[in-house]
Amino acid sequence: MSTQTPATRPQFDTTFASLPERFYSYAQPISVANASAIIHNPELAQELGIDLQWLTSDEALHVLAGNQTAMGSAPMAQAYAGHQFGRFNPQLGDGRAHLLGEIVTPNGARFDLQLKGSGPTPYSRRGDGRSPLGPVLREYLLSEAMAALKVPTTRSLAAVATGETVMRQNPAPGAVLTRIAPSHIRVGSFEYFAMQGDEAGVKTLADYCLKRHFATLIDKPQPYLALLNEVIERQAKLIAQWQGFGFIHGVMNTDNVLICGATVDYGPCAFMDDFDPDKVFSSIDQQGRYRYNQQPGIGQWNVTRLAQALLPLIHTNDEKALADAQEALNNYAAHYGAAYQRVMSNKLGMSKPQTGDQELTQELFSIMAEHKLDFTLCFRYLVDQAAIQAAIDETHQSIGDAFSAPDELLAWQQKWQLRVDKDPQTKALRYEQMKLANPAFIARNHQVELAIRAAEDQGDYQPFYRLLEVVKAPFNYQSALKKYALAPMPQEVVAHTFCGT
Ligand code: AMP
Ligand code: MG
Repeated sequence: MSTQTPATRPQFDTTFASLPERFYSYAQPISVANASAIIHNPELAQELGIDLQWLTSDEALHVLAGNQTAMGSAPMAQAYAGHQFGRFNPQLGDGRAHLLGEIVTPNGARFDLQLKGSGPTPYSRRGDGRSPLGPVLREYLLSEAMAALKVPTTRSLAAVATGETVMRQNPAPGAVLTRIAPSHIRVGSFEYFAMQGDEAGVKTLADYCLKRHFATLIDKPQPYLALLNEVIERQAKLIAQWQGFGFIHGVMNTDNVLICGATVDYGPCAFMDDFDPDKVFSSIDQQGRYRYNQQPGIGQWNVTRLAQALLPLIHTNDEKALADAQEALNNYAAHYGAAYQRVMSNKLGMSKPQTGDQELTQELFSIMAEHKLDFTLCFRYLVDQAAIQAAIDETHQSIGDAFSAPDELLAWQQKWQLRVDKDPQTKALRYEQMKLANPAFIARNHQVELAIRAAEDQGDYQPFYRLLEVVKAPFNYQSALKKYALAPMPQEVVAHTFCGT
């Protein structure tokens, strides 16, 4: 008879706790009435070196529900500020999240393990510290979809139901998400100290970030300028990737911009269906500040807030500091432009940019906007064309009648064909390149909504589980999963997404 080896608990090694007390508040998660597991993420657990046997244990359920403190964990809420819709709020902080601690993976990478929806903290203001089930499932789906698309993002390790009711517009079941991030340090974390005139605080945080995220920059002649440059470049690249998948973040406040360059805060976000450059989903974004085609510019606005906070560290001479910061900010456009061009070249099967590509791309987007073509399916349709040309249609499944090309697109396609025919790369490579840049499956809003409704209204998680499996393999179309690739019917369209806080 074999005896099972006991599960290994995660080991916490929380460097953030070595920072001064004004950076955070120790706070205990509040127990919930009746914790039950909704989902675990075994692939992520493996990457993190977290024992799956532990993750699925009763002990983990109670740790991740906030009922029990994990061994070696001293839960804390982090302090931060932020510009929200352009207005500065000096005091935000984790109002409903607890950092249980940091873990180090078998590869030596360090991650935060954070509970979200785990009860009030000293930063909660009037909030209840809780999260309804819907936003937890939404974040789980969207963040895992983003990871599958290879876009830097926070991840979801687990979700548990609390057995309690959360009061919002309507009463809703509560849940707690376990979120994983390279760190949760935000542009707003820097603003928190800078706006109080706490230069020592800014420096301590910058040194911490250099050590944790950008160790190779420590020995640069101007390490804080190098840090700024790095954050600028990562933000520009990140947003170029969002644009390439039609992703609208919805709430690009500076407290939702991570220094490490990962996407964070899946509140009122969505992948768009029909292409509209002015699309905005968030019900709280009445001016459309965070609409699709504003995202790159808002990215620059946000890193400018970081530059402002870092100014005193960049150079002892104020004028020099300002000039250096300005130069770094000016590079944002070039970083974004280069990253966006790479994204679009990949999507359109071009190995190297050539003159005329930009116009060709612009023309495609104009046609997509004019005919309200589905963003994802339109590009996937081009992958199907590349598959036909590469003559690998036995293994490739076409989206078929899920998309129909208007005449204008067919005319554009001939120009595109001429362009790619001149490209030096083989047709087989072009197909591979395009396939990996153009998903068949995204976490479509109406599908996410259906999954949430089934879970919230009927306690049925099957639609959530099925959708999750689909979006975790976005690039391999299978006709059996066609309904997940389809654009919504007019009556299925979800016009707004809510913060759900
Ligand atoms: P978010 O909109 O999720 O980025 O949150 C903005 C700020 O509000 C952060 O400081 C959150 O911690 C806080 N917050 C959001 N929802 C709640 C809640 N239900 N209870 C307490 N604080 C909250
Ligand atoms: Mg946030």
